[in-house]
Amino acid sequence: MKLSRLIPKNHFCSIELFRAEPLISWPYTDAILFTAYDIYRSNDFWLDRIVSSGLTLKDGLIDLGFPKNKALVADTGVFEVEARKAGIAKELGIQVDIELSNSQIFEAYELSGADYFVAPDEIVLPDEKIEIIHRKIKIIKQNLIDLLEIIHPSKIIAVIQGHTESIIDDLFDFYRSQGITHFAMGGIIPLYHHNKTTLEKVLYYVRKITRDFWLHVFGLPHMGLLHYYLHEIEIDSVDTSALLYITARRRYLLGSRPEPVRKAVFEECDCDGCQHLSPDMSTTSSEFFLNLYIHNLRTAAILSEIKEKTIRDRSPAKRNIGENESRSIQKAERIADKQSQGVGISWMTADVAYEQRKEKVTKQTSRKDSLHSKSTKDIED
Ligand SMILES: [Zn+2]
Repeated sequence: MKLSRLIPKNHFCSIELFRAEPLISWPYTDAILFTAYDIYRSNDFWLDRIVSSGLTLKDGLIDLGFPKNKALVADTGVFEVEARKAGIAKELGIQVDIELSNSQIFEAYELSGADYFVAPDEIVLPDEKIEIIHRKIKIIKQNLIDLLEIIHPSKIIAVIQGHTESIIDDLFDFYRSQGITHFAMGGIIPLYHHNKTTLEKVLYYVRKITRDFWLHVFGLPHMGLLHYYLHEIEIDSVDTSALLYITARRRYLLGSRPEPVRKAVFEECDCDGCQHLSPDMSTTSSEFFLNLYIHNLRTAAILSEIKEKTIRDRSPAKRNIGENESRSIQKAERIADKQSQGVGISWMTADVAYEQRKEKVTKQTSRKDSLHSKSTKDIED
């Protein structure tokens, strides 16, 4: 079962819209992500019905029209919980209403029928004492051993934590000894706030040691980072719920920039969403929301596959992850607004992006080799 470069978070557990046409047919990406946290938080009747019928959640989705061959990725969703334990939740603006034990997570995993499962982890903070880090690494390893009792290693995504070569190597070697072939970068957001230079070194280093395997990164605080993660660091995939937030704020992705929807020219995009959008529609209608969401999904999916060259070369995000970063999408949107006030910026529309897709793939492959040979000796240790 294939993962895709972009793995949108899907809220089928709690939002009916995701279980109805056209979203249930999901032509947008090869994989979606949902969380155990969503299962426990949801009080949706559909969930109860599926669980009591003995079907898996994926079976239930397929009955509704979800394509069988699309991958369902189960995540713990406990980043929020872990963030609180690590004392950084408040700083990140995260509110936690429930806590989940590993056995609750595993129970949710078992009834999900998912194709990939993220192993529960602990956030290792950059400024933590080494004894604490070692204790957390020990827990992370034990979590994996527990998960291996119910899930085959080929279906597990193991999370790499730590900021030094020795910690990272130790975890990676352990994962490999357990037969793991899919990895994810963890602890990115706290590290991002701590030290961006270290973050970049860690990203390059983890990409280097996992080069023969799939590497995922959790979360996309704003769309500008899509390019950075997937096309500069060459990480294989990223998940995001940003597209929903952007859409809720009535933003239309022009390239990677969420623009106020009044700036959109729907006829210039040939996606399924724009076919159904018109400037005469009420922007508060659910039909408008749905089709705007489809446009944003399609645009982000295309950007995940190809480089957005036209605009990216001028963006601060290209030069330094920190310059154009923000911890909230709102802030990212303000930045995008500001930048787009300049005249003569030409956006790459979805159809143009499609045209350029094939030739870009060849170039990316050759570039990958050169990136991986880049020295990471000076990583903090
Ligand atoms: Zn469109």
